[in-house]
Amino acid sequence: MKYIGAHVSAAGGVENAPLNAHNIGATAFAFFTKNQRQWQAKPLTDNNIQLFKERCDHYGFKPKQILPHDSYLINLGHPEQEALKKSCAAFIDEMERCMQLGLDRLNFHPGSHLRTIAIPDCLKRIAESINIALDKTKGVIAVIENTAGQGSNLGWRFEELAEIIEHIEDKTRVGVCLDTCHTFAAGYDLRSDAACKETFKQFANIVGFEYLKGMHINDSKGSLGSRKDRHHSLGQGEIGWDAFRFIMQDNRFNDIPMVLETIDDSIWAEEISALRMLEKSD
Ligand SMILES: [Zn+2]
Ligand SMILES: [Zn+2]
Repeated sequence: MKYIGAHVSAAGGVENAPLNAHNIGATAFAFFTKNQRQWQAKPLTDNNIQLFKERCDHYGFKPKQILPHDSYLINLGHPEQEALKKSCAAFIDEMERCMQLGLDRLNFHPGSHLRTIAIPDCLKRIAESINIALDKTKGVIAVIENTAGQGSNLGWRFEELAEIIEHIEDKTRVGVCLDTCHTFAAGYDLRSDAACKETFKQFANIVGFEYLKGMHINDSKGSLGSRKDRHHSLGQGEIGWDAFRFIMQDNRFNDIPMVLETIDDSIWAEEISALRMLEKSD
């Protein structure tokens, strides 16, 4: 089964996310459990939690169809001790919010070395932060998102994702989310069937599909290997429809949340229908 949706707004409360997802015909969704640009957030109220659960139930969203995303401020590989602690605490808070909402995975960006520590050290630091967070929480999988490799962000090469996973103590609670825009910008071609086959073969060999816990379905404004994180609407960027057809027809992408983060939210419903059509096309 393919679960397709978008990263929807949770303005007014997390309980609005399943409603917004349902309104665009989605069977999956992503959302922020708190304001993604602030460190502090009010705790979720009993009312938020109850309504969120009721609506997920009502509209048929199970945990495996939902991919919450953490705050953009968190850097689990931060070179400075104080900042690292702050990030780690914020990440644990995000995981606890997921637990309260009955969710089983949290999507986050691995971290960046800020050009002050070596890449292997930063990858180790990220893994340590994840280990600490997993130790303090229960039942939520830490889902590492691959990046475009912009600036000093790590996790754009599949090898870096594999290295983080290697250092995680409880491998049942770590996963990966592949963003098609980031994958392409990082230098992995997706513009044809043959290119997709090769790219996902590399992913299978280096990381493994057993770790794939979500997808971000985006076209890319930046070219192959540009290392730019610039999303585009499906079919309007440098990637094109072949990649999305390939993914929709490949069983290895079944039973995980696949969410659009494309730039024009007014056409999300159309993009979701288009992806559903591809599932059945030749
Ligand atoms: Zn992200
Ligand atoms: Zn992106």
